[in-house]
Amino acid sequence: MPKIFERLDSKKDKDIRVLANFISIFCRKNHRMEVKNTFPVKDDKLRHTLGNKKLPLCPVCSELLNHGIAKLLLCPYDPKPMCKKCPTHCYAPGYRERIREVMRFSGLYLVKHGRLDLAVHYFF
Ligand SMILES: [Zn+2]
Repeated sequence: MPKIFERLDSKKDKDIRVLANFISIFCRKNHRMEVKNTFPVKDDKLRHTLGNKKLPLCPVCSELLNHGIAKLLLCPYDPKPMCKKCPTHCYAPGYRERIREVMRFSGLYLVKHGRLDLAVHYFF
């Protein structure tokens, strides 16, 4: 995906950071035994968005994050609605169920750990 990173702006930045954060919590807690690799970031703008952080993810979560980032960048709505209220279901079959599970798990995790500030961005 070469061109889509030109669509990064401050709002999408934030959404992508939340997405990456939620997926990394999920992976850390649920895929303890999987081999993890640093999420490959080939684009400078995206690297900046992610704050130069190394994101260790298993292959499945890495793929999910890739898909999620692409969908966020391609979202035709401005402002982007919450995904669960959106008329367009843009996630490919299989991914949608997985991202829902991730959001539920990590949203609850953040609430339980007093990170309501992060969980209020519960946008899926
Ligand atoms: Zn994982």
